[in-house]
Amino acid sequence: MLNVCRVSGQQQAPHVSGKLEISFSDGLIKGDFQLSKLPGLGKQYKILLNRGLNIGLLKNDSGKVLQYSGFYNDKLIGEAAAYYPVADNDTLSLPQKLSISYTGAFPIYTDTLNSFDFKGMIALNGKTLRAAEQSKWYPVIYDVKNDKELLDVTYDIDVECKDCQTIYINGSRPQSGPAARFVSAVPRQLLLFAGNYKAQVLDNSTFLNADLSPAEAKVFNDNIAFITNFYKAYLSAPYGDKVTLLQHKAVETYGPSGNWGFVTFPTIAVAGETFKSQLDMQKGTFKDTSNYTFYAHEMGHYYFGHLLQPNSTLKWFFLESMAEFLSIKAGQKKYGEVFLRNYISKAKAQVKDWKIKPLPTIVNPDNLGEGYRYIYGPLILLAMEKRFGPGAVEQFCRKALQKPGMETNYNYLLTIVKDAGIKDADWKKFEAEVINQRECKNIYPYL
Ligand SMILES: [Zn+2]
Repeated sequence: MLNVCRVSGQQQAPHVSGKLEISFSDGLIKGDFQLSKLPGLGKQYKILLNRGLNIGLLKNDSGKVLQYSGFYNDKLIGEAAAYYPVADNDTLSLPQKLSISYTGAFPIYTDTLNSFDFKGMIALNGKTLRAAEQSKWYPVIYDVKNDKELLDVTYDIDVECKDCQTIYINGSRPQSGPAARFVSAVPRQLLLFAGNYKAQVLDNSTFLNADLSPAEAKVFNDNIAFITNFYKAYLSAPYGDKVTLLQHKAVETYGPSGNWGFVTFPTIAVAGETFKSQLDMQKGTFKDTSNYTFYAHEMGHYYFGHLLQPNSTLKWFFLESMAEFLSIKAGQKKYGEVFLRNYISKAKAQVKDWKIKPLPTIVNPDNLGEGYRYIYGPLILLAMEKRFGPGAVEQFCRKALQKPGMETNYNYLLTIVKDAGIKDADWKKFEAEVINQRECKNIYPYL
């Protein structure tokens, strides 16, 4: 399945500036960064840095070397070691600025690959270095109280990599090596992709390491443009980001049909199948509708994930089910009713024996498991279309985007239902017949 994806949003974003040096041939990374515009988190914070990166010095804004803890006998948080400056045996309140220098080296996998790869790896394969935000290749502030990593940052970063043909930091235009400066006033999660690859910059999309002919790039770009045009019309909202499509070779082996995708918006990264192999140049489209809907799903996160940043109990419904629903609508627009009927019959077969917690009873976001998020949630939205009409669900999607900053729980869903013009009595009936059903197959008659 190509639907591993993770999206998170921006708040008052920290600013990261400084320099990163990469020695490509031996996997060495050296960072010297200043973090500024840090939020007032008091003592409720940690500084996260990849477990393979060693802090050289931690300094305050006047250049004074700080003591810090987290170096000895502490727990990792995900892929990262968690540090915190101390003074007089107590955590130092988070200052507005901090400087951190660090060094680390990472294995290069060429002939024999690793037993695993994932978004948290700093992955070198001899041709490219890939480090997503999850790897914490840059220092990330962790807000302990709200259990939140402040991954989105504005940045001004110089990258030096003498063996790199191309260097890219998420949200910026790719640049030629061996040295380049990247600046963004828009907060981004920092995906770094550097090495010996070519960048192809088109109107609607940028391709990295894709090795597409100009004709292939055009077909891909046209399909992406079709999706953005559909979304703009369907949601009556502009598509605010140009997507970057990144092809990379994972450091884990993927079989001929094995694929892995992840998103650090606006970058969509794919390993396994190549972009080139997904295209049917005769027809000017993707060989498989699932390729098309994969990209449509990921692009849908511009709206549900970026414009609306879901949280609370129905976080996964408003993040993944909505993005998946948009991709189904984009598929229907492109491939017609046959596509929709096929999609529904496949999804029905998958949910046949599933039992779920009805949406109003969800108390923990993780009560919505993967299948619920990606398959059953979208079926609920399709059942709503059937009951209330496509126009009402279109309104539902539009209205959902117009209330950013709210807690996306069931009450929120009810507010949107009302805003979409669905009558209370009609909704109550739908709740009883569909929403509150625990056995997924009970949705069959309503699709
Ligand atoms: Zn997704």
